[in-house]
Amino acid sequence: MASDLKRLGGVVAVGAVLAAAGCGGGSGGGHAAAAPDPSATAASTRAPSPSAREALAGRVIVVDAGHNDGNFDHTQQIDRLVNAGGFRKACDTTGTETDAGYHEAAFTFDVTKRLTTLLRAGGAKVVLTRTDDHSVGPCVDERADIGNRAHADAALSIHADGGPTDGHGFHVMYPPSMAGGKKVAAASHRLAAAIRDGYRSGTGLPTANYIGTDGLNRRTDMAGLNLSTVPKVLLECGNMRNSGDAGKLSSAKFRQRVAVALDAAIRHYLS
Ligand SMILES: [Zn+2]
Repeated sequence: MASDLKRLGGVVAVGAVLAAAGCGGGSGGGHAAAAPDPSATAASTRAPSPSAREALAGRVIVVDAGHNDGNFDHTQQIDRLVNAGGFRKACDTTGTETDAGYHEAAFTFDVTKRLTTLLRAGGAKVVLTRTDDHSVGPCVDERADIGNRAHADAALSIHADGGPTDGHGFHVMYPPSMAGGKKVAAASHRLAAAIRDGYRSGTGLPTANYIGTDGLNRRTDMAGLNLSTVPKVLLECGNMRNSGDAGKLSSAKFRQRVAVALDAAIRHYLS
């Protein structure tokens, strides 16, 4: 989302025109084969073992689906400026989309639903920042507040980027300083590495070749991260403006693989 603004030269009141430029939306069903794991093949059709079922018991995880499809029709609301952690920034943006018109907001909501199912199956309490894909926002400061009020053990913002068409791959944003202080920032850095490692191995997608270093991107301009008092990172699952990445992100099978990878990465971080 902030990458949208950055690429547009810091202009914040841009609203719906961001659709083609920023990180950015769909639906679908289906179930992926996930990462190849011969040992899991037989077990995957059975109910989780007690240990798997309870692995996340007592844990609170916030899953923040980026943008919202209602944003497109409410540009005044999402363009208003809110606290971003020492500066002000637009409440939200529309996000990006693929050439075929698959919206980032729809993508993030679909992945969030899939991930939520897996995390809850593991015993976690999952808190969402939005529960539909047709309303507006919430604003980025409220997205942070939801995680703070939940006292989340981990919070993950899910996005897909609107990068250059020849750029591909995923990256994870983490903040150098946060409202939660140094310990929370350090934990967020560890969370970023865990998400990076789990996403790469679980999806097979490479780290971004156009931004960040080895899949990590240190950012000071992300309100949702700056304002967080709990460990939080933002994942750009791929580049919707790149045809190869767009093909994957548009696939329900790939999105299930994304959810399985993120569930495993969060379990690893919390273990
Ligand atoms: Zn975004």
